[in-house]
Amino acid sequence: MKTYVINTSNSPYSLLKPVPIENVKLMDNFWLPRIEKLKNNTLPMQYCFLEKTDRINRFRWASGKLSVKPEKSIYPFDDSDVYKWLEACAFMLAQDPKCGLKNFVNEVVSEIIPAQEDDGYLFTEYHNQRSRRWTNLTFDHELYCAGHLIQAAIALHRSIENTSLLNTAIKFANLISETFNSKNIRGVPGHPEIEMALIELYRETDNKRYLETALFFLNERGKGLLKPVGNSMFYLYDLLGAEYFIDHKPFRELDEMVGHAVRSLYLNCGATDIYLETGEETIFKTLIKLWKNFVNCKMYITGGAGSRYISEAFGENYELPNERAYAETCAAIANIMWNWRMFLATGNAKFTDIMELALYNAALAGISLDGTKYFYTNPLADRGKVRRQPWFKVSCCPPNIARLIASLPGYFYSISSEGIWINLFASSKARINYRANIIEVVQRTNYPWDGVIEITVNPLEIMDFALFIRIPGWADRAYADFNKKKIKLKPGTYAKFMKKWSVGDKIMLYLEMPAKLMIANPHVMNNFQRVAIKRGPLIYCIEQEDNPTIDVWNIMLRKSSKFFVEYRRDLLGGVMILKSRALIINGDIWKEKLYQTYQKPLFINKEVEVIAIPYYTWANRAPGPMTVWIPILSG
Ligand SMILES: [Zn+2]
Repeated sequence: MKTYVINTSNSPYSLLKPVPIENVKLMDNFWLPRIEKLKNNTLPMQYCFLEKTDRINRFRWASGKLSVKPEKSIYPFDDSDVYKWLEACAFMLAQDPKCGLKNFVNEVVSEIIPAQEDDGYLFTEYHNQRSRRWTNLTFDHELYCAGHLIQAAIALHRSIENTSLLNTAIKFANLISETFNSKNIRGVPGHPEIEMALIELYRETDNKRYLETALFFLNERGKGLLKPVGNSMFYLYDLLGAEYFIDHKPFRELDEMVGHAVRSLYLNCGATDIYLETGEETIFKTLIKLWKNFVNCKMYITGGAGSRYISEAFGENYELPNERAYAETCAAIANIMWNWRMFLATGNAKFTDIMELALYNAALAGISLDGTKYFYTNPLADRGKVRRQPWFKVSCCPPNIARLIASLPGYFYSISSEGIWINLFASSKARINYRANIIEVVQRTNYPWDGVIEITVNPLEIMDFALFIRIPGWADRAYADFNKKKIKLKPGTYAKFMKKWSVGDKIMLYLEMPAKLMIANPHVMNNFQRVAIKRGPLIYCIEQEDNPTIDVWNIMLRKSSKFFVEYRRDLLGGVMILKSRALIINGDIWKEKLYQTYQKPLFINKEVEVIAIPYYTWANRAPGPMTVWIPILSG
């Protein structure tokens, strides 16, 4: 059995085919320690929280093992945290089948299965209340939880050949298909998620019915079916509006990213999955329109998504506040999931570029360096107030970041009819089944701290094929040593290397990685006359802890500011820091003042040294101010 992030091996419109998670062995200092922490700390601790907060007890209550309904689990969507945790464990077990997580997994699965009702229904909130079923799709996440159950079951089936939970998921998926599709009860999920799950189930079982049900949900969306039930939720629905649910117009008519960021991005994931199976051009054109709007007008420089604190939603174009950024960790993960699917459809590096950006920045900031605490929101500026928490009442983010990191090896490589594609970089060894051959690809690199990558290809038998290597769009210049020639490469594309490959053939890749000052579109009013620092795939920030003598919100850079890189093995798990000289805004003229008549100079004419650290590492030490966007002195 092979474990995939998603299995598009037989999807007719997936140009790229996946490489199983277990076939890529990471051997690097960046991701491998994170995966080890995930296995040893994160997932066992999350299991404790699932128990402590009664999330697993809810299944025990539904199956009759507990007579009183547990009180600590309060939200109707709490089941989904258990499922996402299971999916993360499944991806981990694919890499290390003997790891201790298996016992926890078996225990949790054995509590879920008996909670299923006779006809296949499984949602603990409505357990044994038939009259409540499907009555509040707008707010109660019934189909959302079903989607996560299906995904967890598929992952466990692929990684440890567990068929029992898959049978449970199939039974529930059949009930959903009968209810909504065959009987044609009209309704759509308030929170998209089940669409991509049903398509993955179609990929796993070859039963077309699940694809049809996913398409049914996409087609019914935008017809105003999501309404409040009775009077109780009317006020909330009125406040949020149909856009919040992306139910204000049919999917194929959408041209702007609106509404709840995770719902919106999950919907796009599902729609892309439908495209990968059906090739419907209208869907793809809509996806491209939405992607352009997202990347050009609504995405944070970190790859974060969702700028409105209220309703966890996208704002207007260029509405990207820093201190009040919502940028939910789940939305960054959804961004990665969507761009992965868009890449599989096209082979276009612009999608893997965004995926990498969100991975190293917006998503990775969502988990602490020790793997035990999480951000729900990911601001780009702070006064030391926002801190990661070990768990949340609404705890979607912790198991979501866990399943992303656990599945990461599955994103490194792809296969097409022409050859093998390298999407991400880290010291690693991959074993890729290609046609009737086995190709070992070995990467040696210090990525993301430097851009030198040695790639060795070891085919079992000598073979002609193309090796496509992603040349990241952030690189100013890129070169390769290949076939004893130095070749200039185009950033933002996949470079194609053709050869009759034999054991030990090498490509040396050089991606220039200077620290750069980035500016935002001037209509992003919060960032006007400010710069952000980027080096390679990493966005940097300035945090108080490294700059104790100055308030980092008072720093100003010059256009000519130069950055010096220094690797600090002992800092934040080992990071490349950036040092520069900066001016200091004159705090004295602002004492007890909010406004004053314009005057010069705003800054003290004295330079200080400032240290910047990768954004993903912030808030791992003493609380203090932090900022990504820094004012710049023009001229
Ligand atoms: Zn979340």
